[in-house]
Amino acid sequence: MIGSKINLKDMTLSDIEDFCLNLGEKRYRGEQIFRWLYKGISSISEMSNIPETFRIALDEKAYIGMVSIEKKYQSKIDGTVKYLLKLEDGNIIESVLMEYSYGLTACISTQVGCGMGCSFCASTIGGMIRDLSPGEMVDEILSMMRDSNRRISNIVLMGSGEPLANFDNVIKFLEIINSKAGLNVGMRHIAISTCGLVPQIKKLAKLDLQITLAISLHAPNDEIRKRLMPIAQKYTIKEVLDACREYIKITNKRITFEYSLIKGVNDSIENAYELSRILKGMLCHVNLIPINEIREREYKKTDSKGVKEFKAILESKGIEVTIRRELGSDINAACGQLRKNYINYMVRV
Ligand code: SF4
Repeated sequence: MIGSKINLKDMTLSDIEDFCLNLGEKRYRGEQIFRWLYKGISSISEMSNIPETFRIALDEKAYIGMVSIEKKYQSKIDGTVKYLLKLEDGNIIESVLMEYSYGLTACISTQVGCGMGCSFCASTIGGMIRDLSPGEMVDEILSMMRDSNRRISNIVLMGSGEPLANFDNVIKFLEIINSKAGLNVGMRHIAISTCGLVPQIKKLAKLDLQITLAISLHAPNDEIRKRLMPIAQKYTIKEVLDACREYIKITNKRITFEYSLIKGVNDSIENAYELSRILKGMLCHVNLIPINEIREREYKKTDSKGVKEFKAILESKGIEVTIRRELGSDINAACGQLRKNYINYMVRV
């Protein structure tokens, strides 16, 4: 919002239709306006099929929000692009564009910073500043599409922030980008990653969306998890896994468990056996991630031999496993690291 004006990109199609009705216009104008937003216009005056009198009335109540590209880093190895985007209030967020065999994938932030405090993550070092609005998340996608001049077919909510701590805005964002009159990104092409907020996982299950849910597990037992993730003080692994079983029962969707391998912390052979025991019989898949080393933390990544051994043990117990491909290693910035370095730099100059 700017003053009392509302950002049209924060609204779903039915929100805009209701908005038009409230302004004394016909409902179908809502879809015309909604379609314009995703054609890349930046001002209401560009909506050429809307009568001028209504454009003026609309302009008094609403505006089209925009984020701008502050910096951009492109990998020479695999083409991955990391963006620092500036929000209307001056806050900076990070978004990433990656090339996969199945299409162009955007990784977006859902909050400015993060309050979850995971000890291996740079995004949380400055704490949580604020939630992103649905329109700001939409604008992460639109900015990257504009800049790359390509359609984004897959979206992962795995950047800075805990998506399920910004639940309502994230759900609204999903509705907006899924809309056929807008970007029309299918729910099956969207993944949300959570550190394991049990009530929100259950709430999400009830919506029965066809998205992929990824749980940042990172430990096979509560003792190790508590060392890595403060959220483990609140919810035990058993509670998280019970919520996941409920989620699978309702949605019939396979869950992904993300497991960052940290040398000497959670990567032993016993840890692999323990992990396979707790996931036994679940409709799931494990994504092993060689941890991103960040300057502020001591953690080191497991070597590739250790990663392969860990994977082999899980597979021997019937668990499907992948190893996450490292992208953009030459623009070496773990999630949140670019933004943090940039803010430190701006404070110093
Ligand atoms: S890993 Fe995710 S939930 Fe944890 S601090 Fe980082 S951004 Fe937040």
